Amino acid sequence: MSISDWRKQLNEGNVSAVELVKEYIDKIQLNDDRIHSYLTLNFDQALAQAEKIDNDRIAGNELPPLAGVPFGIKDNLCTKGIKTTCSSRMLEGFIPPYESTVTNKLWKAGGILLGKTNLDEFAMGSSTENSAFGNTFNPWDISRVPGGSSGGSAAAVASGMCMSALGSDTGGSIRQPASFCGVVGLKPTYGRVSRWGLVAFASSLDQVGPLTSSVSDSAEILQVIAGADSKDSTCLKASVPNYAKELCKPIRGLKVGLIKQCFDQPGLSLDVKNATMKAAKDLEELGVELIEVDCPCFNEGIATYYVIAPSEASANLARYDGVKYGYRSNEEQNISSMTSFTRSEGFGNEVKRRILIGTYALSAGYVDAYYKKAQKVRTLIRRDFESAFNKVDLLLTPTSPTTAFKAGSHTNDPLSMYLSDLLTIPANLAGLPAISLPSGFDSNGLPIGLQFIGNVLDEAKLLQVAYQYEQTANVMKNKPDSDFIS
Ligand code: GLN
Repeated sequence: MSISDWRKQLNEGNVSAVELVKEYIDKIQLNDDRIHSYLTLNFDQALAQAEKIDNDRIAGNELPPLAGVPFGIKDNLCTKGIKTTCSSRMLEGFIPPYESTVTNKLWKAGGILLGKTNLDEFAMGSSTENSAFGNTFNPWDISRVPGGSSGGSAAAVASGMCMSALGSDTGGSIRQPASFCGVVGLKPTYGRVSRWGLVAFASSLDQVGPLTSSVSDSAEILQVIAGADSKDSTCLKASVPNYAKELCKPIRGLKVGLIKQCFDQPGLSLDVKNATMKAAKDLEELGVELIEVDCPCFNEGIATYYVIAPSEASANLARYDGVKYGYRSNEEQNISSMTSFTRSEGFGNEVKRRILIGTYALSAGYVDAYYKKAQKVRTLIRRDFESAFNKVDLLLTPTSPTTAFKAGSHTNDPLSMYLSDLLTIPANLAGLPAISLPSGFDSNGLPIGLQFIGNVLDEAKLLQVAYQYEQTANVMKNKPDSDFIS
């Protein structure tokens, strides 16, 4: 059910918020032992909030825009009084004393927290297999990964275990799991949405965004979470347009660029390529002009990201020293060995790998060769996009080179895992908004994702084109049968 359908049901008194929340709780109780989307459940509070919304409605009070919408929230967003672990032993018992700005805005808009969703530890990964608290599985085929790092959120939306979810995206962590799970994932422009209360991974790249079952739901949630925040100095002061109103504006005459470099990737699956070309054709039929564009540095994104993101992560994760937050080792002899033991025991292997890469790339003698060089390439990637957006309104690519892979198939080969984000990372490096939505199914019946990348703060156009493509293509009408997808 979409948010607007739900609003209608609630306002007309056909279904109460308590009934709706109970339905989602039943679904979680039935299915989550096999999918494992949730780390922490919040049912009592959710039911109490739903009851309050029902009472408000009966009293004739005007209901806020997301009244009664049940959410799953990625467990790297701080929720006051509710565990926030980042899927790490390091923060296993951490209960934040404050609420993140985005979740605060959701609750003010009537949203309800069902629970906190699983992720790769500190959002480092592409499969939700790097969680200290167990893997999440893909509801389309539970032998496969849901993508990552927001895999718990994507799998929960796909399997009807929440109406909508929030994730975070540093290099693709909203869009790639959205693509693997057949849902819609939006990464806003860097700075469009406040990150206050998001546990930092790579601060020049991180953004929060929605995972939803439709583009219009994505627009509704962005509307609530976007906008300036005095608590986050990187949050832009720009005004927020009415996204829902723009969805139906005509797209005839818009120009959509196909990035040449995306389509000759050796790892690009044929089914994914064909679905993307078919989507391009559908857009052409809607009156969009397709133009091939050249982004010569696009494929340098991965190498650039895997210097910049670990460098920033190594600095951000220095705060986990066993003194201020979370886990502290019992092996302590003095302050220095306490910190070493704490970090050795508290962090998982992928997090340690990133910290090692990051401290190496930033160390004296290597900083010019690695970190500073990566920053220069980042500028070149940004310039490629700037010149592309002189010619086109939006860019179109597949979201990920493949569909969901088998659990365990990439765990011993980090490089093959990193390649999963080849097509999503450049938008983070350039700070651009991008959305992933379903474009079809592959020969195994797994969802394929399509990505639109927009110019800075042009989420309205991104949502508008995505919405009209979604309405025309109606991809879900051909969805294969699955035990977990209704
Ligand atoms: N998969 C990428 C990584 O491991 C991106 C993660 C993210 O966007 N949080 O760094």
